[in-house]
Amino acid sequence: MEAVIVHYGELALKGGNRDFFERVLIQNIKRVLDRQDYTSVNQLYGRLLVNLKEGASQKRVRNSLMQVFGIENFSFAYKTKQNIEAIAKDVLPYVKKCKFETFAVKTRRGNKNLPFSSVDVNKQVGGFLLKNGIDAKVKLKNPDFTLHVELFDNDAFFYFEKIRGLQGMPSGTAGKVVSLLSSGFDSPIASFKIMRRGAKCVFAHFHSYPYTNKNSINNVKEIVKILEKYQGDSKVYFIPFADIQKEIMTKAPEALRVVLYRRYMIRIAEMVAKREKADALVTGESLAQVASQTLKNMKVINEVATLPVLRPLVGMDKKEIISISRELGLEEICSSPYDDCCSLFTPKHPTVAAKLSDVEKAEVNLKVEWPKLSSVHD
Ligand code: ATP
Ligand code: MG
Repeated sequence: MEAVIVHYGELALKGGNRDFFERVLIQNIKRVLDRQDYTSVNQLYGRLLVNLKEGASQKRVRNSLMQVFGIENFSFAYKTKQNIEAIAKDVLPYVKKCKFETFAVKTRRGNKNLPFSSVDVNKQVGGFLLKNGIDAKVKLKNPDFTLHVELFDNDAFFYFEKIRGLQGMPSGTAGKVVSLLSSGFDSPIASFKIMRRGAKCVFAHFHSYPYTNKNSINNVKEIVKILEKYQGDSKVYFIPFADIQKEIMTKAPEALRVVLYRRYMIRIAEMVAKREKADALVTGESLAQVASQTLKNMKVINEVATLPVLRPLVGMDKKEIISISRELGLEEICSSPYDDCCSLFTPKHPTVAAKLSDVEKAEVNLKVEWPKLSSVHD
């Protein structure tokens, strides 16, 4: 196994920005790969070619590439010479080891200056296999087995399997957002979804320590450790929120509490965004999941935002969210108990339809000291 050929999908459509997208994708691939495993990552004819070192761990490379957004699929490939006889001879022992009734050879010729076409390769390599003990029929549509051949500048590569990647867009190609991260199920998945579209997340977590224990802070650290595999080093702001909550609890109508908490969270998250030069906020809200997530309440909460508030989970059911959480290895952390700053002071009967005028009236009485912001790199 001499190389991995990485195929990217959507990026290829990005016209003028394509170079930028490819460069970022290469950087991201280099970030996750182990230096022991590869010598170089090059861009070649709409593919990326990862040259593997001798003795590279296929498992480690595979696991690493499964963390990179923007990869459509990838294949572990063998290198051979760029002539049809050499390709045919080299693939034979591998093909002999596989069981199938129908097969196809699919060649892609990046290098157009070769004295033969991709159809020539398909026909001649296929013919050679049939003459040399491969007992199967050629079938171009949906064969049991496909031998892929790619022709680059000086070398040819062949492979048999395409491993589906994470898809999406390379991390860092879609700007920066501040993601409001609790330690519940939803916000980590919202962050993952927006990261998958290429945005880089700075995280903001509101906690009530020392009024509560440090569970939510510790859970968030664990969550960020998992999420940062997908975007690299991540910043987290741990923001003390208990004083603001106390003020709301003692001075505002009980039914409005949650809406008021959220409005203050949004305001503070905007301060973080300003400091970080981020262009949007992200929350894990999903329509009608809980009382604060009705359209009427979302509208009143949104009033304090000047930046777009992105809600990647807005149309998702809890079941779907939990299933993604499980896939990412987040389920256990997110279901572990914590005294969330909000659960601690949640009213028994929160309103499902806050009125802006009532909320604004309640805020007039509140004396809020804005917390000092400082970030930590996880
Ligand atoms: P989650 O599962 O993300 O906690 P939730 O279903 O519990 O969400 P809410 O408690 O209404 O819903 O919170 C809505 C959103 O507000 C969260 O998804 C998150 O983005 C943000 N949020 C809530 N609490 C906090 C917190 N303590 N720190 C940061 N963000 C928070
Ligand atoms: Mg929550």
